[in-house]
Amino acid sequence: MKHYAVFGSPIHHSQSPFIHAMFAQQTGIALEYTAIEAGHDDFRAKLDASAVDGANVTLPLKKDAFTLCADVSSRARRARAVNTLIRDGDGWRGDNTDGLGLVRDLTERRGMDLRQRRVLMLGAGGAAHGVAPALLDAGVRELVIVNRTISRAEQLSDALGEPDRVHARGWDALAKLGSFDLLINATAASRSGALLTLPMALVESRSDAVDLSYGEAAVAFLAWARAAGCVKTVDGLGMLVEQAAESFLLWHGVRPQTDAVFADLSARSVALFTAD
Ligand code: NDP
Repeated sequence: MKHYAVFGSPIHHSQSPFIHAMFAQQTGIALEYTAIEAGHDDFRAKLDASAVDGANVTLPLKKDAFTLCADVSSRARRARAVNTLIRDGDGWRGDNTDGLGLVRDLTERRGMDLRQRRVLMLGAGGAAHGVAPALLDAGVRELVIVNRTISRAEQLSDALGEPDRVHARGWDALAKLGSFDLLINATAASRSGALLTLPMALVESRSDAVDLSYGEAAVAFLAWARAAGCVKTVDGLGMLVEQAAESFLLWHGVRPQTDAVFADLSARSVALFTAD
């Protein structure tokens, strides 16, 4: 039986072992998938000791995973972050399925058309790095990245290499940015219980909002978005399931059906804590 794992910290609330067990059952592929607590200092040692055939990597290790790969996909290179490790002999190939996972959820499950949309992304951490290239590939007209630490927004914007479409701003510029078709919360603010202060003027009559977090962590931002008038408000649960399906495809050559897993997780969503 092949062995897979998700590495990160904190990892005990991760839904990935459940999701991959459901995929394995559905496709008839025998596998074991566990969650392994690891930080910057002990990730490499624990990865080697685990002898896994493949791995998912989450907070705070996506950059560490990027660095240890002998080879990375073009989308992982653009994201400068890896969430999926594929064993390649004694080494690793890296990929990033976060962006495709988000875009699939928004376009195929929620019926959103991302083309020509003016998009605001709050946050410039690992998740923002993963989803930004996929949003550009999906045809958004403009991507404005706003981050508390503006230098990180600027670094991400520079790395994306599309100065006509991508702009970086600090939090204090929010009131002057006008309105957006799509607002994405890619911050980890809710992890520390912090509430984001956002001007209502960011929202117009056709705006939609997405929080990459899910469960309790997504409640505050999505409640604000509904109060501000957003039409669709979506949490990150669909993205979580879709990015997992893309990892499964990379490891096993089969893309599992995601609807049943999404429905199961949604049914108990508010009780879930975000741990991708
Ligand atoms: P990182 O730690 O890499 O980045 C955190 C980001 O949040 C930074 O931009 C940081 O700003 C910002 N931030 C943190 N606290 C605050 C605050 N109080 N006010 C404003 N900004 C703040 O985290 P990730 O990018 O990996 O994760 C972000 C979120 O996305 C998490 O909730 C995570 O669970 C979720 N996620 C969901 C996935 C899914 O499949 N649904 C996949 C991956 C992530 P600064 O740079 O200034 O510190």
